[in-house]
Amino acid sequence: MAKHQFQTEVGQLLHLMTHSLYSNKEIFIRELVSNASDAIDKLNYLKLTDDKIKAALPEDWSGEINIAFDEADNSITIRDNGIGMNEEDLIASIGTIAKSGTKSFIDNLTGDAKKDSNLIGQFGVGFYSVFMVASNVDVISKKAGEETAYKWSSTGTGEFDLGPCTKEDIGTIIYIKLKDEEGSEFVSKHRIKNIIAKYSNHIAYPIFLNYSEEVTEELSEEDKKAGKEPKKTTEKRHEKINEATALWTQPKAKLKKEEYNDFYKSISHDSQDPMLTIHTKAEGVSEYTTLFYVPKTAPMDMYRADYQPGVKLYVKRVFITDDEKELLPTYLRFVRGIIDSEDLPLNVSREILQENRILANIKQSSVKKILAEIKKLSKDEEKYKEFIEQYNRPLKEGAYQDFTNKEALLELIRFKSSKTELGEMTSLAKYKENADSEQKAIYYIIGENEKVLRNSPLLEAYKKNEIEVLILDDKEIDEIITPMYGAYQEWEFKDITSCEAPKVEQSEEEKKEVEEKFESITTKIKDILGEAVSDVRITNRLSESPSCVVKDAGDAQMAQMMQMMRAMGQSMPESAPILEINPEHDIVKKLNGCADDAMIDDVSWVLLDQAKLSEGMEITDAVSFAQRLTRITSKAL
Ligand code: ADP
Ligand code: MG
Repeated sequence: MAKHQFQTEVGQLLHLMTHSLYSNKEIFIRELVSNASDAIDKLNYLKLTDDKIKAALPEDWSGEINIAFDEADNSITIRDNGIGMNEEDLIASIGTIAKSGTKSFIDNLTGDAKKDSNLIGQFGVGFYSVFMVASNVDVISKKAGEETAYKWSSTGTGEFDLGPCTKEDIGTIIYIKLKDEEGSEFVSKHRIKNIIAKYSNHIAYPIFLNYSEEVTEELSEEDKKAGKEPKKTTEKRHEKINEATALWTQPKAKLKKEEYNDFYKSISHDSQDPMLTIHTKAEGVSEYTTLFYVPKTAPMDMYRADYQPGVKLYVKRVFITDDEKELLPTYLRFVRGIIDSEDLPLNVSREILQENRILANIKQSSVKKILAEIKKLSKDEEKYKEFIEQYNRPLKEGAYQDFTNKEALLELIRFKSSKTELGEMTSLAKYKENADSEQKAIYYIIGENEKVLRNSPLLEAYKKNEIEVLILDDKEIDEIITPMYGAYQEWEFKDITSCEAPKVEQSEEEKKEVEEKFESITTKIKDILGEAVSDVRITNRLSESPSCVVKDAGDAQMAQMMQMMRAMGQSMPESAPILEINPEHDIVKKLNGCADDAMIDDVSWVLLDQAKLSEGMEITDAVSFAQRLTRITSKAL
């Protein structure tokens, strides 16, 4: 036996397991059974695709999980005949190397023991949960296709022992020596049965409970009278304690909501019921079953590049993979569930999966089905609000990535708008309904702060004309995605920082006249501001504010490109904005006739800086801004 150190993060995790996360200890059984089931899935698949493995297995091999408990010893043993682990596997999977999830698990801990133990499964740190109840754990395992078996042993503090041992058949035995206080309650037939019924009833393999029971002999009346002592014998029990059928193969009509929910919890490691359950059997050209769930709370890793896909692929009930991100489009990565195809060959390889027609069809219909169910949910405003709180952002991604379903996705997205209350949202369908007959576009403004956006001077003309403007405050994603929407039912999306202001009741002559009247001052301001602006012009989009900054339509495209480059980590300069001034405003009128050059200089800069500030942008030189304001104010007094 050689000693190995746990990697730092694993050590931290183990410490947490043993000291903080004790509110929901029973889940260690769910986690170990789920690992056993995964291991059998893997061997099942190898048996069908690898002749050498097949030859090494007994003719009548079929996967099963055995749980045994021993009162005298205060221990539980969980045994599977799955794929097993060799020395490297043991080190990599349950030893020195922390998986990518481990660190983020630790970072995500809230300190609330109950919530935190719900995170255990989600982060793929399931095995370690055994140390909530164990004082010592032995993992004895022999991997399919290999000669040597190994024993891994640890008390869950700092280090583990690892070395060769003897074991006849392929598979894994997990021997759990329970802690006297925190663990003893699990050495119980009823307790284990209940836990399995709750979490693992629809694991596709039989789970047997093995234990000894003392049986007292039934005495006849005569013997009783004769005062005979009943004989006590110990009998061995081998009892199947789960349903052991793949839930999704059963007819919909037979399944209860509770069974669906339990199955969801067993595959997702979530402790909440799902928000949506979608069970579909397709027959005809292509035959398959899908069972999808939408979690109530978005998975923790939804915004991580290395997120764990939530959908497992089966072929004729045989597990193929749970690590294929292409089974559904990436924007639906929050969906959990299974796809079981009757038509795919069992030996599908990764490469084949990527471009397989059958799978592409399943994927396409699945997306349609999921979106249709989400649409149904949207009829219930309260429930849909909860959905949107979790998943608005992935829907936006979808409208950008999935051209075929763009319209359907745009209908599902919800938007803040100039006509909704703070915190309320609207849909594009409602937006169109509310617009008057002349409107032909969907107007929006993007920024970081909802309040700032709502007060932006750029909205003034729209408010005056009662035109609704979408308030997009998820800047990081909105800025890249919104311009790509193109149109919704032929209404183009228009950024109000770069498009013409709406419905201006002003003739060309009038416009020209005003421009001429203010020509000298606009030129002067432009000279003063130099490179800080790309142009200065008269506008009629403002009513209360003296000035605003906007972008050229061409610049807007440029700005979007730059934003994308920035998102990819490149540093890109902001392009200079156009300063627009309001000829109806007192400041601008007075500035036009002003003879004090120093004053014109100060006011020009203030017009630019305060426009930027009120649109939520940063100004480059706050000190000068303050100094100018002081000078202007003291002159004004
Ligand atoms: P996860 O199951 O999410 O991968 P776990 O911490 O539960 O995370 O298990 C870690 C890894 O250990 C598994 O991915 C698997 O490779 C290995 N493992 C655990 N239990 C078994 C088992 N009974 N048989 C084979 N491999 C196992
Ligand atoms: Mg696991």
